Amino acid sequence: MSMVESDNNRSETFLKGFRGPCPVCGYHLNEPTNSRCPECGSRLRVQLVAPFHFYPWHALLMGIVVSFGVCFDRLLLIIHGYVWSNGQNPPWGFLGISTLLILVLCVAGFFVWRYKTRLERMSKPKSYVWYTFSFLTPIITAVVQYYLIMMLVRGGL
Ligand SMILES: [Zn+2]
Repeated sequence: MSMVESDNNRSETFLKGFRGPCPVCGYHLNEPTNSRCPECGSRLRVQLVAPFHFYPWHALLMGIVVSFGVCFDRLLLIIHGYVWSNGQNPPWGFLGISTLLILVLCVAGFFVWRYKTRLERMSKPKSYVWYTFSFLTPIITAVVQYYLIMMLVRGGL
């Protein structure tokens, strides 16, 4: 007996004694005779599913995504300012700062994805450090971006 057949038999056995709402449409099922909801036609399957858990890598990816927003906002403002000011030379330095930060965020996202299993198995105190860091990532990105832009304006870059 294959795994799929075994799962189907288990679902049918469970459904034969089931009374309750269809998870899709809410229609009251009364010991259905097959694995389809008679009201909406959805396939009914019995599964053992782990509940969703918000791990540090979820928080880190959210922080990186929000940080992308910070960088893209600056990038679009620079492009908008250049286009509407009839400037002669494109502001490569300013564009480069935002582009560099976007590349750094891409690398960070790659490493978060690569080590997500390690981040899931981390102890609680360590994971709280990563949750906090995730929350601060967009702020750190904005501050670093501002600092680099000010350095460029003052001729330090
Ligand atoms: Zn239904």
